[in-house]
Amino acid sequence: MAGILDGKRIVVMGVANRRSIAWGCAKTLMDQGAQVILTYQNDRLKRQLEKIAPENTPMIQCDVAEDANVENTFNTIKEEYGNIDGVVHAIAYADKKTLSGGVIDVEKDGYNLAQDISAYSLISVSRYASKIMHAGGSIATLTYMGSTRAIPSYNMMGVAKAALEANVRYLARDLGEKEIRVNAISAGAIKTLAVTGIKNHGDLLKESEIRTVDGKSVDIFQVGGTAAFLMSDLSSGITGDLIYVDKGVHLLS
Ligand code: NAD
Repeated sequence: MAGILDGKRIVVMGVANRRSIAWGCAKTLMDQGAQVILTYQNDRLKRQLEKIAPENTPMIQCDVAEDANVENTFNTIKEEYGNIDGVVHAIAYADKKTLSGGVIDVEKDGYNLAQDISAYSLISVSRYASKIMHAGGSIATLTYMGSTRAIPSYNMMGVAKAALEANVRYLARDLGEKEIRVNAISAGAIKTLAVTGIKNHGDLLKESEIRTVDGKSVDIFQVGGTAAFLMSDLSSGITGDLIYVDKGVHLLS
């Protein structure tokens, strides 16, 4: 059966393990015919990727903390594989101290780090990815409704997600002339490595599940389905926008 991503080469950034939203995206994109290139933060995570990804899946290290790393990554991708058609950016980070208190307790270093990795990195990724992206390409990032609401425990990550979503709108405008689209998926709460860094994450996951329309949390492959749609030409009219994949949690909260 033909997939909606046949012939497309897509970079997926942010697989840490088989629970990662990025893995749900990568697997679904592959199932839809895409050639997927995975990027990983460090060697420890590379070993995880090697356990779960099909043999011969291209993998490249990219710690987004430095612009030079991001630039090198996309230069290497161009040299080794050629131009690309899309990027899924599923990266966020805040240190434990920053996540342990309210926004009122956040200090400058922790604030800057969370913004840097979770929001600014979409700008650097979009800048260097767009240089090697075909017209008609697509960039998608992952966000959470804590960007527009004061969700208990989400705190600093909500502030970073608000910036990330603003980045999406401005990047969509900036890259429009190159016919590259930029969008966000606002996923429901899913138990991943990143979520376990949030204080009281058990309560956050439980509250979110209760608020779904069917009492069952969304899973990483349901998020992956929307990522596949956004990477495909089927979504060619959508840019600068946000799609909720949370089984209605944002409607009921
Ligand atoms: P995850 O822990 O599986 O993925 C987070 C990824 O960010 C990891 O692969 C990690 O290596 C990467 N990362 C962190 N710092 C990095 C750096 N300096 N350079 C490169 N990579 C770095 O968790 P996840 O929940 O799958 O998170 C993926 C995205 O989805 C994040 O943006 C997260 O905020 C978002 N999201 C998650 C949920 C949820 O409930 N899990 C809901 C909505 C949005």
